[in-house]
Amino acid sequence: MAFTLFNTLGRRRMTFQPLQEGRVGFYGCGPTVYNFAHIGNLRAYVFHDILVRSLRRAGYEVNHVMNVTDVGHLTGDNDDGEDKMVKSAEERGKSVLEIAAFYTKAFFHDTDRLNIIRPDIICKATEHIAEMIALIEKIEKNDFTYFSGGNLYFDISRFPSYGELAMLKMEDQQAGVRIGADENKRNPNDFVLWFTKSKFENQALVWDSPWGRGYPGWHIECSAMSMKYLGENIDIHAGGIDHIPVHHTNEIAQSEAATGKRPWVNFWLHNEFLVLDKNKMSKSAGGFLTLQNIIDEGYDPLDYRYFLLGGHYRSQLQFSREGMQGAKNARRSLVEKVRALAAKTANHISAAPGTEAGKYLQAFNKAMEDDLSTPRALAELWGLVKKGQPDTLAAVFDMDRVLGLGLESACSNMEETAEDEANAQEIEGLIAKRAEAKKAKDFALADNIRQNLKEKGIMLEDGPGGTVWRRIAP
Ligand code: AMP
Ligand code: ZN
Repeated sequence: MAFTLFNTLGRRRMTFQPLQEGRVGFYGCGPTVYNFAHIGNLRAYVFHDILVRSLRRAGYEVNHVMNVTDVGHLTGDNDDGEDKMVKSAEERGKSVLEIAAFYTKAFFHDTDRLNIIRPDIICKATEHIAEMIALIEKIEKNDFTYFSGGNLYFDISRFPSYGELAMLKMEDQQAGVRIGADENKRNPNDFVLWFTKSKFENQALVWDSPWGRGYPGWHIECSAMSMKYLGENIDIHAGGIDHIPVHHTNEIAQSEAATGKRPWVNFWLHNEFLVLDKNKMSKSAGGFLTLQNIIDEGYDPLDYRYFLLGGHYRSQLQFSREGMQGAKNARRSLVEKVRALAAKTANHISAAPGTEAGKYLQAFNKAMEDDLSTPRALAELWGLVKKGQPDTLAAVFDMDRVLGLGLESACSNMEETAEDEANAQEIEGLIAKRAEAKKAKDFALADNIRQNLKEKGIMLEDGPGGTVWRRIAP
């Protein structure tokens, strides 16, 4: 399979070619573990998962590295504000390490529930301080730094291609352009490689370094850890679009300044945002939805995964209950159809290229090769499932190796889940009956239905997208 991927560096679609035949080094920026991930963050990780699964299915051996930021990320990406970890620890009356451990566990619990394959290497910033210091020393030796006001800065004026990824104009980088610029900086976009206690007295975690006792700037961890595990040049690096102007721009500057090798990363892939009521969902600004929130509303985590696959990763996606309900219904119907197929297809018969199933598989592959077009791939899966021929099932499972909707396991525990499914259908039937009763102003019947369900441990919640249900603990 030959993938065409949209490279943010140069803003063009390019045929993917790894540095080493058959192997892909992939680094995806991981979470800052000071709070639960919101469903927008999780969009980024479902995207990474689709990329990794697609490459593996195409035969590449992928080494997927993800960092966990447990130190150094300020509330502003541009060195301003407070340390997110310290702030969260203070607010919750816990130590920074306790906060990090709690939210790291919660993060992987969420990604597991979304059927995201765990990265091969998960690396914590606090466990790689020595590597960060060694990298900063190289940058310093190559003369890209200056020490000012207690911090070691990267001097962007020494790096002529600064801002290439974000297409920033050099004339906008001059000192004084940005109001409120740090007076210690020579250029407003210079960034801190190493903070000393002189800037933040309350920093909980500090380490000795050649520049004094302190802690690293946020960006250096990704350069240091990706180089440790993937080498000095990387095939693919990914993150959300918010990372383009500062975080990834700075990662490139410091990495290339340290090694002198350009380009540090061959393919930069960025996912667009999930938006809620036209606003960007943000962890630091609060007011966000977690995966558990939507599970509590009666959705399965895989309903959310299905919802995400319905949008291309480079398009903004509007979150809505209507959209989630649509995804829930579609996924349920897909599972039912695949189960029906599994019940009548005794063995898995592979789809030969000339067959109808083979044609759907080919179209599916084309969609995924075309910059990971999951909406088109889903449409091919549906087309295939509707045909329902003997060789369909194997092709469905093959497609699901990329989509990760758990279709094969839904078939292998059919007996156990058949009862759940029957129950779910009964509940949906009663919800429809209640809606009709309300429409006919028969409120007694409507209340009765709600009450009967409640006694069976089923809670109904009426929302803008209709009524959803969830099981409550007995
Ligand atoms: P953070 O934990 O804040 O560093 O963010 C984790 C990942 O989520 C990063 O790749 C961000 O770019 C990405 N991200 C943050 N907000 C959103 C959003 N609303 N939609 C999609 N991705 C997001
Ligand atoms: Zn990063």
